Amino acid sequence: MDPDFIVIGAGHNGLACAAYLARTGASVLVLERNRRVGGACHTEEVTLPGFKHNICSVVHTHIPSSPVYRDLELERHGVRYVYPEHPRGTIFPDHRSIVMYREPERMATELGKFSARDAKTYKELVADYGEFIESTIHPLMYSPPLPPSVQSAELEKSEEGNTLLQWQMSTPAQLLNELFDSDEVKVHFLTRVTVLGFAPDQFGLGWICLLRILTGEAPICVGGSQQLAEGLRRAVEAHGGKVRMGAAVKRIRLRGNRAVGVELADGQTVDATKAVITNIEPKKSFLHMVGEEHLPDSFVRRVRNYHARGRSLLVLHLALSEPPQYRAAAGNPPVNTTFSQEMFGGDMMEQVRAYQEIAMGRPPQKEMLQICMPTLHDPSQAPAGKHTAVVWQYAPYRLETGGPEGWGVLREDYAARVLGLWRSYAPNMTQDKILAMKIQDPTDTERNNDNLINGVDVVGDLSPDQLGYFRPFAGWSHYRSPVEGLYMCGGSCHPGGGVHAGAGHNAAGVIAGDFGLNKWWD
Ligand SMILES: Cc1cc2nc3c(=O)[nH]c(=O)nc-3n(C[C@H](O)[C@H](O)[C@H](O)COP(=O)(O)OP(=O)(O)OC[C@H]3O[C@@H](n4cnc5c(N)ncnc54)[C@H](O)[C@@H]3O)c2cc1C
Repeated sequence: MDPDFIVIGAGHNGLACAAYLARTGASVLVLERNRRVGGACHTEEVTLPGFKHNICSVVHTHIPSSPVYRDLELERHGVRYVYPEHPRGTIFPDHRSIVMYREPERMATELGKFSARDAKTYKELVADYGEFIESTIHPLMYSPPLPPSVQSAELEKSEEGNTLLQWQMSTPAQLLNELFDSDEVKVHFLTRVTVLGFAPDQFGLGWICLLRILTGEAPICVGGSQQLAEGLRRAVEAHGGKVRMGAAVKRIRLRGNRAVGVELADGQTVDATKAVITNIEPKKSFLHMVGEEHLPDSFVRRVRNYHARGRSLLVLHLALSEPPQYRAAAGNPPVNTTFSQEMFGGDMMEQVRAYQEIAMGRPPQKEMLQICMPTLHDPSQAPAGKHTAVVWQYAPYRLETGGPEGWGVLREDYAARVLGLWRSYAPNMTQDKILAMKIQDPTDTERNNDNLINGVDVVGDLSPDQLGYFRPFAGWSHYRSPVEGLYMCGGSCHPGGGVHAGAGHNAAGVIAGDFGLNKWWD
């Protein structure tokens, strides 16, 4: 019998959407071209046996506290998280550092090492906006985006909201300059913004700083990110849904202006009685799978303009015989047990300029590093006593010299340079401690999963013209499309890329409403 719904792609968003719909009593079939589920929630032994490397996402900031985790009973389906005591830290070139603490007083003391005034500002921000962010801003991730006029009207009702509206008009760097004195404090908070793919000099993104200043947990999925996807797959199957792997969708089949099913790469066709839902980014979904001849010109223009021009990452997956020992730990011991460390070799404005250089295709010569150490907090991801590290250095996809193909020439030397930069902070990371290494340049990231266009981790830029009501395009932010019975549920939809399953959750709500299904989760 034909399923009610076909979901194309078993990324965590596709699986979450499918799991919600399956529990309404609808029949759901997820089609995934890989032999594994999860998309960018992907853990694999790519160096040595027993060393589990997270190929893309490592930390799932929002998942354990999300409605998705609760509603889909992911704990019961085997998805567990650990919370490192010190989620994140920043180490400066002079080996001073800032380690994040949960308690605002303790965090303020940490910032106070650099500026008493900044410590005071931080405490004021927590007092003035902490509750507001938790109660007003975070829930916006798990509902379809509001039109800008409605959202502004809501924000205008409170003093906090009015300030946020003003801060929307700044760049992150401008706002940090306005709030803080110390360059170290500014660098610390700016790296919290850029790590999510937000550009430091982009007008319209200043308010993101506030979110990043006030939140900082780093929950790690026990066993690796893949385990989140496995738990979601179990949640789909627990309610009768099916997940078929090795099933690449080539075409979305239409009857008139209605999506009626799909054609697979092997020529097989599968029909859906109610709708087809795509977890794949818009260009492939609409220009390749539907065909622009079936779409309104204005929509085709929007799809063509959907962009992923932001920074990518050079990723090094390392199998280590011991964890890094940072020189900074001499003055600040928790540095060595912090889950993720960021290092930038300059002040905040240099960081802004380095980002601009990346946009011109020039890989940074200085460190723009984030190092994550999952095994310090979840030893199950490596053999006893051993460790994995993931090293991310910001990098362009398209090189000024050689374009994307230029990575074939540059990758080995650049990886060696990046390791050298890291070693200047953690001198014990000598070659003999690195048991094996896998280099993943931006073109590898895209080759592994071409949903991550141009190796951009967040499935299309998180720029103001592609956020909220404008994601993926103005007029089409409600998970529907101009083709009847064709919906979107991936990271190209609000609230964007990253692992939070917001898009999968929200799409399921819209679809349940459109088909009069029992929306059991609200
Ligand atoms: C290096 C790197 C590090 C990252 N780190 C983090 C992090 O620490 N924390 C975080 O929150 N986010 C991180 N991200 C981003 C995050 O992983 C992604 O934005 C998110 O997982 C995207 O989820 P998705 O479900 O929307 O899409 P995807 O996970 O991309 O899923 C799409 C699925 O569709 C499948 N597919 C594609 N085409 C077809 C087809 N024709 N037929 C059938 N199936 C198809 C794909 O195989 C894939 O399984 C990182 C990304 C990268 C690249």
